[in-house]
Amino acid sequence: MKKKVGFIGWRGMVGSVLMDRMKREKDFNNIDSIFFSTSQIGLKSPNFSSVNTLQDAYDIDILRSMDVIVSCQGGEYTSKVYYKLRDTAWNGYWIDAASTLRMINESVIVLDPINLHVINSALENNVKTFVGGNCTVSLMLMAIGGLFSHNLIKWILFSTYQAASGAGSKHIIELLQQMGYLYNSISIDLKNPISSSILDIERKISFSIKDNSFPKKNFLAPLAGNVLPWIDLESDNFQTKEEWKVQAEANKILNTNNIIPIDGTCVRVGTIRCHSQSFVIKLKKDISYDSIIHIIKNNNPWVRIIPNDYQSTINFLTPIAISGTLDIAVGRIRQLTHLGSEFLSVFTVGDQLLWGAAEPLRRVLKILINR
Ligand code: NAP
Repeated sequence: MKKKVGFIGWRGMVGSVLMDRMKREKDFNNIDSIFFSTSQIGLKSPNFSSVNTLQDAYDIDILRSMDVIVSCQGGEYTSKVYYKLRDTAWNGYWIDAASTLRMINESVIVLDPINLHVINSALENNVKTFVGGNCTVSLMLMAIGGLFSHNLIKWILFSTYQAASGAGSKHIIELLQQMGYLYNSISIDLKNPISSSILDIERKISFSIKDNSFPKKNFLAPLAGNVLPWIDLESDNFQTKEEWKVQAEANKILNTNNIIPIDGTCVRVGTIRCHSQSFVIKLKKDISYDSIIHIIKNNNPWVRIIPNDYQSTINFLTPIAISGTLDIAVGRIRQLTHLGSEFLSVFTVGDQLLWGAAEPLRRVLKILINR
């Protein structure tokens, strides 16, 4: 009999990408899928569902009848439902995109090209809770997983360039509204740029960005024409929570015996989709450039090494080039010879909705279904 899999949050950013990937890979053929909603109960389900209407995502009795629950709804939903459901002695698999359960003892953070052995051993030990990692963490591990698996990393310093869609569907709409607002304030000048003074245009933009009616309800600040070097809540040690997650989650995913120190700054930028990251890596030993490329390239089939030249970089090492693909672009790879050849600089771009969110969930679901 096919396993009953309940989907919550399937129409959000992560959920829609998950649906898309599952349809493409024909994953729905192998499960009995039931769709839930927090806001659209009773409306029509997607046509590949075994139940015609959307079920109530807070109805514990219906949730209990699922073999597997996949939630892309967000942390608030997980906090409200997960423990209530487990308290009923429900023993099904819970798969989640939110951060809420990532660091609890009973969960495993899933990224099977990097930690299949950890997932398999968890399954042997009857673990039932599998959570996708933070997007930048998963993308970092997919990009430089080879350096981790060869035990070459002493520490990492990162800077991220995270897209608006990383914050959810409302935020991406707001970024586009901000772009439109700015364009409207200077559209007449742009029709005849030769007769307009560039400083006038710049001044109009700077004024309109500060208008009271400038749309910033979700980001609380302009993102178009700006960067926001703060993501998520404040944590300890002057870090943001997003920055705190990197070392904590990466070491949990890798199941390291000795913590690999990883720290840096997470920055929201006005791109639509894909997170980029810049790393300075202190290697444990001085190895040749060719060996470094070989190790990074051969870690997993999705790594694309981008040659360190101008044309390759601007054409292939960008969010525009990577958006909507499973490729992990890794470029600007160079040893920082002024600092010492064991210091390595790398720039990487990956789609935070695919490898950073939906794809590890899709793949762990498949592993569970095929057991
Ligand atoms: P999202 O797009 O905001 O969707 C979450 C829910 O919001 C939807 O399931 C839907 O629930 C509701 N919603 C409200 N307005 C909507 C609209 N206009 N379009 C679609 N849905 C709308 O959130 P998300 O970015 O997918 O994130 C879900 C979880 O994944 C979060 O915990 C997040 O931290 C995590 N995550 C996100 C990313 C990313 O890149 N976005 C990456 C990694 C992890 P109802 O149908 O029940 O109303």
